[in-house]
Amino acid sequence: MGRRGKKKGPNKPPPSNAGACDVEVSPPVSVKSRTPTAAKIAAPRQPGKKQIDSKLTIQSGTSESPPAPAPESKASDVEKDVLKHVSEKFKNPEVPITFSDLVTAITKAASERKKVAGSSKKDNELKEKLGTILRQIKMDDKVEKSPLASDKPLSNEQGLSEIKNLLRNKAESTHKSRAESLDTSPTGITEALLAFTKRAENRSPTDTSNSENLKDEIGSCAVCSKNASTKCTGCRKVFYCSRDCQRNNWSAHKDACRPYKVGKIEGFGRVLVATRSIEAEEEVLRERPFVLGPRPCSDMLCLGCYRRVDGSYRCGKCGWEMCGQDCTSSVHHAAECQVSRAAGVTGRQALTSAGYDEHCKIITALRSVVAVAREKTRWQTLMERYGARHTLVAPASLPYLDHQQNIIEPLRNVFRIDLNPFLRNMSDANIHTILNVLQVHSVPSRSKYGEVEGLYPMASLLGHSCVPNTRARLEGEHLVVTATEAISAEAPITLMFSDILWGTKARRDHLLQTKFFSCACRRCSDPTELGSYFSALICPKCPKSEPVLPTKPLVSSAPWACAICDYQVSSEELLETNLRLGSEATQELINPTVVGLESLLDKWLSKVHTNHYHLHAVKHSLLQLYGRTQESEDSKDDAYWKEIAKKEKLCQEFLKVCSLLDPSMAHSVPQFGLAFYELHKTVLQYAKRNFGLAKLGTQQLKKKMQLARALLRRSMDTLKHEAEDTPEGELYCRCQEEFIAVGKWMLSVGLA
Ligand SMILES: [Zn+2]
Ligand SMILES: [Zn+2]
Ligand SMILES: [Zn+2]
Ligand SMILES: [Zn+2]
Ligand SMILES: [Zn+2]
Ligand SMILES: [Zn+2]
Repeated sequence: MGRRGKKKGPNKPPPSNAGACDVEVSPPVSVKSRTPTAAKIAAPRQPGKKQIDSKLTIQSGTSESPPAPAPESKASDVEKDVLKHVSEKFKNPEVPITFSDLVTAITKAASERKKVAGSSKKDNELKEKLGTILRQIKMDDKVEKSPLASDKPLSNEQGLSEIKNLLRNKAESTHKSRAESLDTSPTGITEALLAFTKRAENRSPTDTSNSENLKDEIGSCAVCSKNASTKCTGCRKVFYCSRDCQRNNWSAHKDACRPYKVGKIEGFGRVLVATRSIEAEEEVLRERPFVLGPRPCSDMLCLGCYRRVDGSYRCGKCGWEMCGQDCTSSVHHAAECQVSRAAGVTGRQALTSAGYDEHCKIITALRSVVAVAREKTRWQTLMERYGARHTLVAPASLPYLDHQQNIIEPLRNVFRIDLNPFLRNMSDANIHTILNVLQVHSVPSRSKYGEVEGLYPMASLLGHSCVPNTRARLEGEHLVVTATEAISAEAPITLMFSDILWGTKARRDHLLQTKFFSCACRRCSDPTELGSYFSALICPKCPKSEPVLPTKPLVSSAPWACAICDYQVSSEELLETNLRLGSEATQELINPTVVGLESLLDKWLSKVHTNHYHLHAVKHSLLQLYGRTQESEDSKDDAYWKEIAKKEKLCQEFLKVCSLLDPSMAHSVPQFGLAFYELHKTVLQYAKRNFGLAKLGTQQLKKKMQLARALLRRSMDTLKHEAEDTPEGELYCRCQEEFIAVGKWMLSVGLA
């Protein structure tokens, strides 16, 4: 993610299909397109994991010892901080408090935190919390309607209690008002789309760390019923007054605490399996990584927090690019900082000039080697738990040679690990094992700022499905795996280890090559890919654009056929078509224009399905470009309105496909966020225009405005975890501003 205002534009293109062999190899190429708005799509992922659709034999679960109790929540820190800044006004009972006072107070409290030099972790957490509150309060209907909202100031006492209420209840109120804002019955496609994606909206706020810290959480001890403020960190559901009480209760609590155990898929390997039914949005597991690093990426990421960096700041000790001083002392950066210094490596230029480009991969590998050297016993335990899957990387195979040339060589030649007393005993064979384990078991996730991957004691055993039932996010130092749908007892717990926006052949080839299994999930086995036709061709013989689909979706050499006539395509021809389309799309997306992308679509729509994954990527870019040429009111001519009409249709198509493939909206956050935002713009523009032309009555106008706001809310809902200085976070802020602006406008014309 670029720093504020820089590096805009979407598009990790779908796999470029540059392979020459008969598998559709997908070295995820990152193309920097310069489209005007928002969200640079997530960096290419490093996929991979288990096949799940076969018989399970369950091994005994791991029981060990109870998790450590959670520290007491410092609930009122944020509140105090904010109140400190409104207190000036409270000294004078004559001066009323307003909504903007509240916002100012939070902003002040947050920026004061920012100024603390070398700020502690707690300061950082508070800072972030304040930012979150600010965002949520700004978009909260209740706040706008509350007596605090600007126009009618309150008495101090009332104001104070309002502020406290807001701080305490904000999560709940945003959630409720969201549901309320959708009271209109769906009529148009856009409304239907909203209803279609509503599932994700009904989930409870996931950011438990925030709400928890805002409430003084006190419960009664599960053992002795005394008041207790510490919770079991395993499930965060049960209170204990002391470590002793927790220990005494562990054998009874164990099964309820961890909703998973380690199971085994015959001929495949170990995988986590649900021990009881798990509800949608329930936290499945939370744990610290054994090792964590940036995900392979063509851009440089800060090695402390993983946001994209532009090279303007470097660590004073080692010369690696970072986002700022705070991050140079991050524990995440310690390994390469120390090894770089010892070897005289001054940042990534040292790698580039020696001919090594995959900086992120090398850094993550180096961190892993250091972690293994440091914690040998723990590493052994992990290896035993993971099983033997990593041995599938055959010596002299392509991945092996890649590891040798592109990772082990630079570790020795550039990082000079042989001269490092701590690392010099690492043999090539040792490092290969570490790299193979990393390749097979690393878990990709999204942090607040960027893409990371790591090895985890349990999460590394999550199964894979292209319709996964969980999502994983890095929250602070923990990976949090949350169910995105209800999971029944004995079902494998799955995550996405490939890219949800690639076609089936691309995903399966990628998983097979990097993770050594053939995915046979629900989506992979369905020729239509859950009704999305994401890889389909179009029959050239039938008059009505009939789809051409795989005859045997799980056999990659099987031909594809039209369901109506006898038209067939061989797997080689199919590959050829995908390769051509892929490379044309990649080329066009480097410097995208409306004309260029439209003519690409025109050319290919007779050959492949309109939802084809390569065209999906093209549409993502195009929907941002439409309607951008003439933003000023007076120059809006017919051509402009034609573009808006196309934009609306494109947004709807795009969202429909995304929702079919990713119903939880957890695996294509930037795409959803952007498309909802762009769609809201078309709704607003039409509403204002048609009202101006007297084609729309007041009540209809009101409905359209509410619809626009509902779309903005949906966008914000998908983007709510993104940090402010990422393109996704910036889009969130833009949504927020527009949301308030639309609300104010509605108030001013008497529509609210
Ligand atoms: Zn107790
Ligand atoms: Zn528990
Ligand atoms: Zn950083
Ligand atoms: Zn450093
Ligand atoms: Zn699959
Ligand atoms: Zn046909």
